[in-house]
Amino acid sequence: MNEDIFLLDPYALKKEEKNALMVARLCELTHLHQEHCQAYANILESFGYANKNYGCIEDFFALPVRIFKEIDLLSSKEIVKTLTSSGTTGKVSTIYLDKLTAQLQTKALIKIMQSFLGKARLPMLIIDTKEILQDRNHFSARAAGVMGLSNFGRKHTYVLDASMQLDIGMLKDFLSKYKDQPILIFGFTYMVWEYFFKPINENKIDIDLSNAILFHSGGWKKLEHLKVSNALFKESFQKVCNLRRIHNFYGMVEQVGSIFVECEAGHLHTPNFADIIIRDPLSLEPLGMHQEGLIELCSLLPHSYPGHVLLSEDRGVILGEDDCACGRKGKYFSVLGRIKSAEKRGCSDTFIK
Ligand SMILES: [Zn+2]
Repeated sequence: MNEDIFLLDPYALKKEEKNALMVARLCELTHLHQEHCQAYANILESFGYANKNYGCIEDFFALPVRIFKEIDLLSSKEIVKTLTSSGTTGKVSTIYLDKLTAQLQTKALIKIMQSFLGKARLPMLIIDTKEILQDRNHFSARAAGVMGLSNFGRKHTYVLDASMQLDIGMLKDFLSKYKDQPILIFGFTYMVWEYFFKPINENKIDIDLSNAILFHSGGWKKLEHLKVSNALFKESFQKVCNLRRIHNFYGMVEQVGSIFVECEAGHLHTPNFADIIIRDPLSLEPLGMHQEGLIELCSLLPHSYPGHVLLSEDRGVILGEDDCACGRKGKYFSVLGRIKSAEKRGCSDTFIK
């Protein structure tokens, strides 16, 4: 992949430039994977995509994301790392990374995070336990997330013990040590709420997080179950800990590095090297702005497995393009939740296109 794209501000490209870039690079990736992954080539062929011409990003064939739970798909013989994630059915997605893909993921993440954090590495509080980093060759999605984000901090402090108890002494020490400077907090949404916010709130622990920037991701499904919306999550932190800078982000293990971060205006943004399409859940026709449907994700990062165009099982809506109040270009959107019974459906019925 031509890496000049990483020299730009990650939210610099406007509609026309971005479309041209995405179509050209997705086309290259499609051909690369067709050539090096026989199973992918067979899938394209069976759906009539073997020799297709692509004029816009909506033209590409989207693999249903759950296919990575069903079969091994890889386009490289030089795998250096595997990532896994499991759904509630217990089936595991396995993603194979070569050196190039892993490097691109890191670069992409750096560009995105710098847009929100600046270039300095901040003292970092991690709402998780050190135990997740045991096996360095075989990362869980959670460990991969923590490792990825750790690059943006220093003095990494894991505040949960192995049984997910908040170490209040450690938390207070950390906060008093860095009380006059910005700090970074990272954790998975559900864990941040359950194992960080709740013990602080319930035990009336007096802490001030006005100098903190919180990044969190994943786990909305569990929070929805507890009736905690993104708005309530933010309000609660602001009220109890004076924490105002909160950025949720959306992404999936099948496209690590391509993350969509919530800006100051509360919108998830597509960076230069990723894009989204909303499709009708039944016909799979592309939908327009403000129409709710299934989220398809395009990413220019996956070179070692055919994960560059994926149909997710999440519902979303595009809210605008190039005109967000925060100044970032590109599409911005909201995630509305999962499609009903996504985990119960087989591969075959999400496979229609
Ligand atoms: Zn914005």
